[in-house]
Amino acid sequence: MDLEDLKAHITDFIDKRDWRQFQTTKDLAESASVESNELLELFIWRNGREMDEHLRSEEGNDMLENVKNETSDVLFACLAIAEHLGFSLEDAFLTKLKELDERYAVEKVKGKVVKIPSKK
Ligand SMILES: [Mg+2]
Repeated sequence: MDLEDLKAHITDFIDKRDWRQFQTTKDLAESASVESNELLELFIWRNGREMDEHLRSEEGNDMLENVKNETSDVLFACLAIAEHLGFSLEDAFLTKLKELDERYAVEKVKGKVVKIPSKK
């Protein structure tokens, strides 16, 4: 299953519920932001390295399920934006990946934490 298949599932999900009438790009972008913050909220005031260790342990299974759930909500919102506007998220993502690959050329950034501004 690829992103286009997932997008088709979202089309079906939205149409069966007659929710298209309530959705604009702005609403879906807000949803992507809210869901992204729900993912972030799982980690608030916690140590990142300790959380990684916890998530990879048996004791972290419930938390990992929460991370999977919120990550899926973010993907749903992103795919819903692509579905709403009729573009291929897969193509957009590959274009973005190419841009990042050029902006963050390995010889410039390997082993470094750097922020290189976008030319756009
Ligand atoms: Mg959520």
